[in-house]
Amino acid sequence: MDTWKEFEQNVITHSAAHHLMAIDDLVSRLGYARVSDIARRLHITRGSVSISLKPMKEAGLVLQDENRHLRLSEQGQRLVDAVKNKRVLVQRLLSELLGADEQQAEIDACKMEHLISNQTAGRLVAFFRFVDSQEQPGPEFLSAWRTGRHDRELEAGSAPDGECMTDSAASRRTSG
Ligand SMILES: [Zn+2]
Repeated sequence: MDTWKEFEQNVITHSAAHHLMAIDDLVSRLGYARVSDIARRLHITRGSVSISLKPMKEAGLVLQDENRHLRLSEQGQRLVDAVKNKRVLVQRLLSELLGADEQQAEIDACKMEHLISNQTAGRLVAFFRFVDSQEQPGPEFLSAWRTGRHDRELEAGSAPDGECMTDSAASRRTSG
């Protein structure tokens, strides 16, 4: 959980983050990740994956063996772990605390996961530790907020808009 401290990860694009997470998922499920596996998973072409991976290899985030199997370097793994942690933190903030629709919270967390600074993520961790350390139903203001929901009028007509910057959309947006 503390790995996010070690690496300032704002240097990567959303697309890169999803490429790295795809490699992470594939390796843990299949034991390996090839360009074609990543392409299938992200719904993009192999050519596009190769182009995207190039700077990540050069940056030492992704390693390739003689069988053209890809895996994350230690640094790449730390980056993925940090992004995943940030996604969970933001999702929890939006849905559990603010009461956002769970699906929308997931989508918004996906959009923000690679943008949240380590410093802010650290504040969120500390905040949730505080919330979790309280006896139920938690800090007074929080339970008042959760039960009262003073904001209903603001939500009128606010159906979830737009999709998650899905893997394919993310990959088209190379500038992040
Ligand atoms: Zn995302």
